[in-house]
Amino acid sequence: MKKPGFLIIIAGPSGAGKGTVRKEVMKNKKLNLVFSISLTTRAKRKGEKDGVDYYFVSEKKFKDAIKKGDLLEYNNYVGNYYGTSKSQVEKVLKTGKNIVLEIDVNGTKNVLKAFKKKDVISFFIIAPSIKELEKRIRGRSTESPSAIKNRLKMAKEEMKVRDSYDYVVVNDSPTRAAKAITKVIKNAIALRG
Ligand code: 5GP
Repeated sequence: MKKPGFLIIIAGPSGAGKGTVRKEVMKNKKLNLVFSISLTTRAKRKGEKDGVDYYFVSEKKFKDAIKKGDLLEYNNYVGNYYGTSKSQVEKVLKTGKNIVLEIDVNGTKNVLKAFKKKDVISFFIIAPSIKELEKRIRGRSTESPSAIKNRLKMAKEEMKVRDSYDYVVVNDSPTRAAKAITKVIKNAIALRG
C-alpha cells in the first residue's frame, strides 16, 4: 500500500497572496500536489472558474453538504460559507499524493483535530505589513467597502494565531515565498521516504 500523502495547509489573512503563492508552488509537478477545491457560497470573482478555484454553490446546497457529513470542516467567513470536501481529501491522500488546503484559521483548527500532526504541514502566509495588506485588498477592487473593512478586521484577528503554524512565510515576493514553501515540502517528502 502507498504511504498516504501530506495534508498541506496554506492559511493567512485575505490579501496576503495565498492563492498566488499556492499556484506558484503547484507549478512544481515533482511535489505531487493536488489542490483541494472548496465549496463556497460567495459570489464568483472576475476570472474565477467553477470547479477550478471553488465549487460555487447555493446556501441550500452548502447546508445539505453539512447535513450529509460531506465536509471535513467549514466556516462562515465574513458572511459567506466555505468548506472542504471530505471525500476529495481522502481520495487524494489514499493515492499517496499531497493535498493542499487554502483555508482560514478556523478551518485549520478543525482540520488539525482530525489529523495526526506528523501528516500535516501548515504554512501561514503574511504580507510584509498591515499597510501593504490593506493596499492589496483594496487594489483587488473585488469587494464592497464594508466587505473590505470586515476582511481587514478579520486579518488583524487571524494574525494573532500565526505562531501556531509550522511555518510563517512573508510574501514580499510570490516567487521567494513559493521557493521557501517548496523547500519545506521537498524535505518532508524526502524524510518520509
Ligand atoms: P476568499 O473569499 O478570499 O476566496 O476566501 C476567504 C477566506 O476563506 C480565505 O482566508 C480562504 O483561505 C478561506 N477559505 C477558502 N476555502 C475555505 C475552506 O474550505 N474552509 C475554510 N475554513 N476556509 C476557506
